[in-house]
Amino acid sequence: MSESATLRMAQRSREMRAAGHDIVDLSLGEPDQDPPAFAMEAAQKAIAENKWNKYPPVMGYMDLRAAISTKFKRDNGLEYAAEQVMVSTGAKQAIMNVILSLVGPGDEVVIPAPFWVSYAEQVRFAGGTPVIVHSTLEEDYKPPIARIAEAITPRTRVLLYSSPTNPSGSVLTQAELEELAAVVLKWPGLMVISDEIYEHIVFSGTHRSIGTLPGMLERTITVNGISKAFALTGWRIGYIGAPKWVVQAANKVQGQFTSGANGIAQRVAKACVEADPALIAGLRTDFLRRRDLVLNGLAQVPGWRCNKPQGAFYVLPDVSSSLVGNLRTSADLSMHLLENAGVSLVEGDAFGAPNTLRLSYATGDALLTEAINRIAKAVAALASN
Ligand code: PMP
Ligand code: GLU
Repeated sequence: MSESATLRMAQRSREMRAAGHDIVDLSLGEPDQDPPAFAMEAAQKAIAENKWNKYPPVMGYMDLRAAISTKFKRDNGLEYAAEQVMVSTGAKQAIMNVILSLVGPGDEVVIPAPFWVSYAEQVRFAGGTPVIVHSTLEEDYKPPIARIAEAITPRTRVLLYSSPTNPSGSVLTQAELEELAAVVLKWPGLMVISDEIYEHIVFSGTHRSIGTLPGMLERTITVNGISKAFALTGWRIGYIGAPKWVVQAANKVQGQFTSGANGIAQRVAKACVEADPALIAGLRTDFLRRRDLVLNGLAQVPGWRCNKPQGAFYVLPDVSSSLVGNLRTSADLSMHLLENAGVSLVEGDAFGAPNTLRLSYATGDALLTEAINRIAKAVAALASN
């Protein structure tokens, strides 16, 4: 298993900053906004109540699980009972629990690319084999469903994807989800992990959950959390809705690794999932403005090409034209930009998208403009060398 490329670049940026360098860090997918006031009030109230200090139940406090069950129904039309909900230390742990529950040596997990860095590594950690289905910028970084279907074999245990997608911002349409569901239903025992952590950051149309389609709820583990929509990455709460047998297995895994998630953070999560989603609509407006700012800016960078992300807060420019001389891979180019332009991006290879770089625009407009100016200058210098 290799180190997380996103976390490695974020750490390198911190170190360079600490050493006195002026770094604009666009490596980490982390909203820069403050969390909503109600979330902080819930934390203060929970501390003042002085009754959330002991080991919480492994699967999460029952009232939080019930609130998540209600949220799934309210926002997503998903009918998971509270017993089918489990709370973890971030969506990252939630996904790891499920993979460790479902996947072992000899099992394959089909992952459409580009994909979030941790998926393939978590599958490897479980002893399984990630089967990557590639796509191109021209395909809006979404492999056609027929290509995904071709990758599925009797050894495939899980299909794992996120929509909106990290790192491309691509969003699966209802028609694509229906086509995908029809493929999954042909294979008894094939499970879907649908990572919906960016559900509130969609710029056109509405977010759709595959678990709402006929026959799919029994086949789908829906993943979500409070990191992105509520700008609460540091409180580390994620959760799943899943068939009961999956939740029971995930409970065993988590019970041996970490036990229940932090008690105070669970009280914060309850306030978040109970809140009216209208309260966090401002986040989407911020991100849409920044997406356009970044796309317009990157259009000025010689040779770089982008798709138009429909969600999340990333763009994934194809940087093939800048891979010249000693800069053979996007990892070489990201190092070059960090050292020569003071801008931190993550190499696309880590996301199954060679020749691309991921830029997270979850930061202030002025910093984004500064970063793009620096990138444009550094790339123009490469071209003239
Ligand atoms: N899924 C996706 C697609 C992500 O981008 C991330 C990173 N934030 C996670 C899951 C994990 O989120 P967390 O562990 O912060 O809940
Ligand atoms: N998921 C975020 C990202 O892609 C945070 C870092 C991580 O956990 O990978 O940047």
